[in-house]
Amino acid sequence: MTASNVLDVIVIGAGQAALTTAYFLRRTSMSYLLLDEQSGPGGAWLHAWESLRLFSPAAWSSIAGWPMPAPAEPGNPTRDDVIDYLRHYEDRYRFPVQRPVHVDAISRLGDLWRVRAGNRQWLARAVISATGTWGKPFVPDWQGRADFRGQQVHSAHYHDPAPFAGKRVMVVGGGNSGAQILAEVSQVSETRWIAQEPPAFLPDDVDGRVLFERATERWKAQQEGRSIDEPVGGFGDIVMVPPVREARERGVLVAERPFVRFTETGVEWADGRREDLDAVIWCTGFRPALDHLGELGIIEADGKVQVEETRVVKQPNLWLVGYGDWTGMASATLIGVTRTARSTVDQVAQALGATPQQRP
Ligand code: FAD
Repeated sequence: MTASNVLDVIVIGAGQAALTTAYFLRRTSMSYLLLDEQSGPGGAWLHAWESLRLFSPAAWSSIAGWPMPAPAEPGNPTRDDVIDYLRHYEDRYRFPVQRPVHVDAISRLGDLWRVRAGNRQWLARAVISATGTWGKPFVPDWQGRADFRGQQVHSAHYHDPAPFAGKRVMVVGGGNSGAQILAEVSQVSETRWIAQEPPAFLPDDVDGRVLFERATERWKAQQEGRSIDEPVGGFGDIVMVPPVREARERGVLVAERPFVRFTETGVEWADGRREDLDAVIWCTGFRPALDHLGELGIIEADGKVQVEETRVVKQPNLWLVGYGDWTGMASATLIGVTRTARSTVDQVAQALGATPQQRP
């Protein structure tokens, strides 16, 4: 193993959270490097399903510095628009990104961090982890799940409805992924939609912007020590994008409460009724992808890490960016991550005694 020169900062990941962080690092005197396991730019968006459209217009889906260009087609940006945007963003600022590099672990070496990937290693004074959640799809531990002989796929690995044509499919999960996947799968197959709680639908004339406005209002109130009348709902509320509205018109957007258990061929309901199924699509969310921090003993039972803002409490000079509200309000969204990335870089500069960001 050879150690290269010591860097000030290593950022793990090169998705939107890492790139936004790099945007602010670039404006300081600190040396930095991004390590990302993907083969090209785009982070988790590379794996999103083909028809995915953002729930907000381009102007509300931009990261720091350079706004997302308006998409060629009318409507909100597609998955490919986001990938293009992140690719151009990375080129525009010439960020130092190495790919594909899967970071296995980080550990302390005196005052430094040692970042290991296979037989390679890097040394840095600070580490910012921005590895997102895509690598950790979450599936609830449902009774009998292992016995079910049909197909099971998580939304993390769902691409398009074609493989489900003519089948009996159950979509589990009452959020935006569940609603959007149900909307397209139900066009080619017989579907059931399962949600723990009745899904919360936003009004038709409201898009994802309202979710950001709510998050911003909550954040401002928190900063000012005010309490606010908490708006009903949160980021999980379903945005009525055109395919979801169309599914409602076809009468398929009806969520049922969960079944009791899986059988070998399907599910069993509370009244003892059994139903055969060919496939289950799990739209049940993600957990933070933090395996590379496993050796540090800082991951709590819920899969999160104790942080103050974004700084890890139990280890020196380690920050987490972009994982969700627990690492910064709305930080797991394009428009929301800027505030968190900026303040994280300010903290890192201060901790390392580096020249802080030059404000424009
Ligand atoms: P990622 O994009 O996952 O980037 C992390 C990078 O780190 C990846 O390239 C990953 O491969 C890499 N990595 C992970 N582990 C390692 C490791 N050990 N070593 C090296 N590299 C590693 N947000 C919006 O703003 N608007 C929307 O409309 C919207 N719609 C969404 C729809 C869906 C279905 C989903 C799932 C999310 C949506 N989001 C939306 C949320 C959000 O923008 C994404 O989840 C976003 O991709 C998170 O960015 P990130 O940079 O934190 O993580």
